[in-house]
Amino acid sequence: MPRSYVAEARKRVAPKRERIRPIIERLALEHGDAAIALTFRNPLELLVSVMLSAQTTDVNVNRVTPALFEKYRTPEDYLAVPQEELERDIYATGFFRQKAKSLRGAMRVLIDEFDAEVPTTLEELVRLPGVARKTANVVSAELGHPQGIAVDTHVRRLSQRLGLTRQEDPVKIERDLLRLVPREDWGRFTHLLIWHGRRVCDARRPRCEDCVLNDLCPSSRV
Ligand code: SF4
Repeated sequence: MPRSYVAEARKRVAPKRERIRPIIERLALEHGDAAIALTFRNPLELLVSVMLSAQTTDVNVNRVTPALFEKYRTPEDYLAVPQEELERDIYATGFFRQKAKSLRGAMRVLIDEFDAEVPTTLEELVRLPGVARKTANVVSAELGHPQGIAVDTHVRRLSQRLGLTRQEDPVKIERDLLRLVPREDWGRFTHLLIWHGRRVCDARRPRCEDCVLNDLCPSSRV
């Protein structure tokens, strides 16, 4: 279990319902370029990239996918080669055996149940093998149909530090955020927290003195 950041939120600040809008507005100004860091050209490439990004960095996935997407253009292409060949092609993203198995399983279901098209709803996406709620949230949001808020390590840490949740479990954190964040912001909220986490609110050394949220954050050290 990763470290909890709940206890860091001690400073007295306004209730979270009053802080959420200024938090989103300031982050949107600060990180106007916040967007998914994976490179893709269509829904299938998006789905594959997000599945490959588990347990590795987006940069690492982006190194592998240009050649991968030249070779595998349709769901059928992933099933047309032996699993070992696909494993070799995605080896550098780590956990390649499990990922190859999940990719092939997902492609099989895409072909059998969705006319080889990537679905857009969470409900449908989680029916694909290897696609859990976080992956489904990222894919549906990128396809213009956000139905939840993807909770990764940055979103978890910042939500706890900002006092938006006291939960540890990503599903419960998401539930808290969905009650709080206006629906029209669900899609961008994940990216704003991820980019703020990468650039300012580092896991070990948050730069509170440079943070645009330091007067709204119960964990601020300034
Ligand atoms: S960097 Fe900002 S968001 Fe993170 S703990 Fe400090 S004040 Fe809070």
